[in-house]
Amino acid sequence: MSHAADISSRSPAAGSPRHDWTRAEVRALFDLPFSELMFRAQSVHRQNFDPGEVQISTLLSIKTGGCSEDCAYCPQSARYDTGVRAEKLMALEAVLAEARAAKSAGASRFCMGAAWREPKDRDLDQVCAMVAGVKALGLETCATLGMLTAPQARRLKEAGLDYYNHNLDTSPEFYEEIITTRTYEDRLATLGHVREAGVHVCCGGIVGMGETREDRIGMIATLACLPLHPESVPINMLVRVAGTPLAEEAALDPIEFVRTVAVARITMPRSVVRLSAGREDMSEETQALCFLAGANSIFYGPKLLTTPNPGRDRDRELMERLGLSPMEP
Ligand code: SF4
Repeated sequence: MSHAADISSRSPAAGSPRHDWTRAEVRALFDLPFSELMFRAQSVHRQNFDPGEVQISTLLSIKTGGCSEDCAYCPQSARYDTGVRAEKLMALEAVLAEARAAKSAGASRFCMGAAWREPKDRDLDQVCAMVAGVKALGLETCATLGMLTAPQARRLKEAGLDYYNHNLDTSPEFYEEIITTRTYEDRLATLGHVREAGVHVCCGGIVGMGETREDRIGMIATLACLPLHPESVPINMLVRVAGTPLAEEAALDPIEFVRTVAVARITMPRSVVRLSAGREDMSEETQALCFLAGANSIFYGPKLLTTPNPGRDRDRELMERLGLSPMEP
């Protein structure tokens, strides 16, 4: 075998996931012939997961719009005219009603997203009440609230938070093209606080933002070299929203997207890889290839924060056609 046959997702000694991936190794995976890459991804997937199971999460925007940050892909930034109205933090009861509906639709995890640079302590009181309430329904809890301090992360843990989402978004080199209002190091610091608090980490990125393959390599290598791999790795395809700076970005080749999923699967063998934003514009065939490449989580429900997502019926039908079933929490 001539193609990077020595690339192993496990360290030979410990048999555990590696955290020392070089960019050259990640590049070699991206460069594999597609069938070889898919075979390897599928092999790693089967060693670690039941390939017929998909974890299902539901994402609710608990505080929409009016964000002070300038993330170039985001319709919720107050800096861009996208038609998204700034709203106040939702009331506890309304959030719990959504969580009950998500549970009865088959979700095992309920993610709450707020468009903040970082939560104020008084906002956090309310979010902690939501986390405790959702947890009491028997759902796994997840939140994405922006940057966190170490004490804030601990408070969320005490309230019952299982996962915190904070994406690296892209490579360290391309990051400044996308966000100028906070740094890559800020993001890594928040991830550190979340880890120290004992909350599981959900961290991935977005592709199709005009980055190069080298940036995709850099993003995956950074994620795969974190001291612990994120338990959940969302791979998003950019949703090009009118009014954002990336509205006119050229579409990324779907095969390159599938490759990114496959390389994430191989380099982070025990992480759940989530096929996240962008599914609405993706063919069912591309989604099926992503599942073959080792994606084993999706967001269920008609909306992802403010952008459209396939309806539950369409997803249920696709999962049936592919013989996939929901993963138990
Ligand atoms: S991605 Fe988050 S932090 Fe960035 S503008 Fe959107 S809501 Fe704000």
